[in-house]
Amino acid sequence: MAQDFQSTFVVNEKLCYGCGACIALCPTNALELVGRLAIVTQDDCTKCNHCIPSCPVFALSII
Ligand code: SF4
Ligand code: SF4
Repeated sequence: MAQDFQSTFVVNEKLCYGCGACIALCPTNALELVGRLAIVTQDDCTKCNHCIPSCPVFALSII
């Protein structure tokens, strides 16, 4: 359920190496690991920011 249609949650594919840290943290299970890349289901992401500091390579952002 998207709450903010103005923003988009972005995974930087060049930085993400599939560690899975962000996936365990998402309260809405909007993230899943596909190969070595975190994939977000945009409709499930509430843009809560919870996962963003968990990424060791700063691959996550909300724009
Ligand atoms: S911003 Fe929140 S809802 Fe969106 S993927 Fe990260 S933890 Fe999940
Ligand atoms: S925490 Fe960062 S590197 Fe790890 S799976 Fe998530 S986006 Fe990728």
